[in-house]
Amino acid sequence: MAERTSVNGASIVLTNLSKQLPELEALYKDIHAHPELSMHETRTAGIAADRLRKAGYEVTTGVGKTGVVGLLRNGDGPTVMLRADMDALPIAENTGLTYASKVTATDAEGNAVPVGHMCGHDMHVTWLAGAAALLSQARGAWKGTLMVIFQPGEETAQGAQAMIDDGLLKRFPTPDVVLGQHVMVGPSGTVAGSAGPITSAADSLQIRLFGRGAHGSMPQASIDPVVMAASVVLRLQTIVSREVAATDAAVVTVGVLQAGTKENVIPDEAIIKLNVRTFDAGVRKHVLAAIERIVNAEAEASGAPRKPEIKPLDRYPLNVNDETASNRIAEAFRGHFSPDRVKHTGPAPASEDFGCFGTAWQVPSVFWFVGGNDPKIYAQAKAAGKLNELPVNHSPQFAPILHPTLETGVEALVVGALAWLGAS
Ligand code: ZN
Ligand code: ZN
Repeated sequence: MAERTSVNGASIVLTNLSKQLPELEALYKDIHAHPELSMHETRTAGIAADRLRKAGYEVTTGVGKTGVVGLLRNGDGPTVMLRADMDALPIAENTGLTYASKVTATDAEGNAVPVGHMCGHDMHVTWLAGAAALLSQARGAWKGTLMVIFQPGEETAQGAQAMIDDGLLKRFPTPDVVLGQHVMVGPSGTVAGSAGPITSAADSLQIRLFGRGAHGSMPQASIDPVVMAASVVLRLQTIVSREVAATDAAVVTVGVLQAGTKENVIPDEAIIKLNVRTFDAGVRKHVLAAIERIVNAEAEASGAPRKPEIKPLDRYPLNVNDETASNRIAEAFRGHFSPDRVKHTGPAPASEDFGCFGTAWQVPSVFWFVGGNDPKIYAQAKAAGKLNELPVNHSPQFAPILHPTLETGVEALVVGALAWLGAS
């Protein structure tokens, strides 16, 4: 029985996990204290590559700028790709942890910015480094090829595509399945996922609204882009509330609204930057078309001298878990973790460029979540109806508890990989 073999294989591979935990904890704290901005993950990539080399992997660095690919060929069998992202965010950490980041760096616009691992990618790197080492140490327990990928630039939607554009598909074997995971709000010690869409498509747009500037005392001489922008922002709220069916879901968030420099000057343009999340290609198309329609109509209603300029900023594809592969993972997780630790969760309105790999290779992929909250605190917040008050990814207070978050993520990767490599 394939599923039993994989569970047995997992217990062999994971024998050394508890011994390695102190060292993995030190690795996590080190990466946490030394975060790097997207596409600048040289130190982190160097650490990942060193560890893979020491564990006996064939290592290629600099794939898509700072990406690392490790290959471990271990006889005939399937090829499994495991992926972790490495980048941090321009956010000032405010966790109060002893190992909190104090790092600043220069961003793409030349500004000095604080840098913090506020999305937990430091945890992802540690999990994958741990799983890669354990699977290498217990090569007798499985067969096939393991491909381990440390990816740059997830937060800017650049990294996966950069690796693909750098010849990932030609230079490395095609995997049978692509697996990845993310630390999220949830009780530590649990894993969660489901077949179908698992993270949303995301589209960021910049809108420039053109008016006519004038003295603040003479509005009749102006076409006021501030009022135009205000109308656009309010009207955009009707897309989700009035145009998307209750059975579908979407998010339209205006995150930037900028105009003017002085209270008695009517400026001549306004900038809106917004972000859209959708879980269905049809809904996405409708929402994007509605934005364009509303922006143009409001500009026309104001008598704008020029049509607004709508520019895409970045885009994440919809990330869909293959049904068969996803069921295989769920079964392997239930066989390894106790059933109450394996949760079913619908798609998250977060976005990921992880889906690019499965799409490019045209192979199934599965992505799941690993809880990072103290189970007691999570349970109390849930009972009080205050789950939304727990710091989420990208919050300056986001701080997964170390245990059992560290071991759960390592175990999930090992068990997931063995669902293919351990089956005979
Ligand atoms: Zn993030
Ligand atoms: Zn993330």
